[in-house]
Amino acid sequence: MISYDALIIGAGFAGAVTARQLAEAGRRVLILERRSHFAGNAYDRLDEAGVLIHQYGPHIFHTNDKQVYDYLSRFTPWLDYAHEVVANIPDGQGGRMEYPVPFNLISLETALGPEEGARLANALLAAYGPERKVTILELRQNPDPDISALADYVYEHVFVHYTMKQWGTTPEQIDPNTTARVPVFLSRDCRYFQDAWQGMPLHGYTKLFEAMLDHPNIEVRLNADARDVLDLTGDRILFEGEPFEGPVVYTGAVDELFSCQYGRLPYRTLDFQFETHPVDVWQSHGTVNYTVDEPYTRITEFKHMTGQVLPGATTIVKEYSRAYTGGEGETPYYAILNEENNALYARYAALAARFPNLHLLGRLAEYKYYNMDAIAARALALADGLQK
Ligand code: FAD
Ligand code: UDP
Repeated sequence: MISYDALIIGAGFAGAVTARQLAEAGRRVLILERRSHFAGNAYDRLDEAGVLIHQYGPHIFHTNDKQVYDYLSRFTPWLDYAHEVVANIPDGQGGRMEYPVPFNLISLETALGPEEGARLANALLAAYGPERKVTILELRQNPDPDISALADYVYEHVFVHYTMKQWGTTPEQIDPNTTARVPVFLSRDCRYFQDAWQGMPLHGYTKLFEAMLDHPNIEVRLNADARDVLDLTGDRILFEGEPFEGPVVYTGAVDELFSCQYGRLPYRTLDFQFETHPVDVWQSHGTVNYTVDEPYTRITEFKHMTGQVLPGATTIVKEYSRAYTGGEGETPYYAILNEENNALYARYAALAARFPNLHLLGRLAEYKYYNMDAIAARALALADGLQK
């Protein structure tokens, strides 16, 4: 029987980057992944029509962290892609209109007309300065009646209904860092992200992972749920019935690791509705947010993002958000960050801390709203620490 130096649960960015680093340092690493594929939520594949789709929702890589960019560039070339998003809303005259999100100076002119748009743009620029990003909650505090009326407009047309759909509650009730991800931007830059490096892995995320996991010291077991082989009921971690002393890096939901003994950690889950249409192009931008009406939050058309050329077919995905119940086949996607839930998380983290060789890493295991680059950075740091 092969013996392993490290066990990693989950083959998303957290697990795969850690595994690669440990493998390169000479450790024999076993990854257990309960899905039938690696790449975690970044997994992409060709669908029946031959369109490259993201199975778990649209993933755009963006970072200001050069170390992460350089690291991932070892495993993939990149397609230059600057993601742009528009809000699609009723125009009040029986039709629909679109303008950039984050709401910017172009959105302002489109929504309110060139004259009123220019007047309010001047007021905003005088109050905050050019190229500034102002959160919607901050903008709503501004006492200037013009700015406050504009803030109400943006709140109503961009934030409140979308946030109600996504989180089941208003922007005031969720963690302020969440809406701050999409500020009002006093700029004509229509990109969704301003990070120094942004793009898509040229051959897709799954190929990136394939290259990252291709190392003689890494073994990946798919369709393998760690809960079937790990035992954390005693004072040492048992793997397949034997004490395991090496590092165990767990990247799944931490409540599940402890049989949800304090109750489930609350998450939002998503239902993805994929549709293939016999046209070259379906919509104006990679992602279109339905910020006022429709039951789904957004529609993404993958070909915009991947640059794939495939005449006569395109695939889109509509995202419907709802409360996660832990039911069969449901995936926890978004941690619901608030004081009560963070306190519940802390109780589970304390259970994990009883095992000095158990490390919680990743968007699920740390119960945080991390982008892919942040997870890769945390994985590099953890792997570094484990080698000291
Ligand atoms: P995951 O990718 O979730 O990987 C965890 C893995 O652990 C999963 O494969 C899971 O099956 C496995 N696992 C869990 N429990 C067990 C178990 N008991 N046994 C075995 N395996 C187990 N980030 C960006 O930077 N840009 C984006 O555009 C972007 N878009 C997103 C869109 C959506 C809809 C969502 C939900 C997230 C998005 N993200 C984006 C965030 C990104 O998905 C995460 O940062 C990233 O997936 C985190 O990687 P991870 O390894 O922590 O988690
Ligand atoms: N948001 C919104 N309207 C939009 C876009 C975002 O109200 O058109 C809010 C919403 O609460 C959302 C949050 O901003 O959950 C963060 O948006 P982001 O696009 O970063 O979410 P993600 O891509 O992670 O789902």
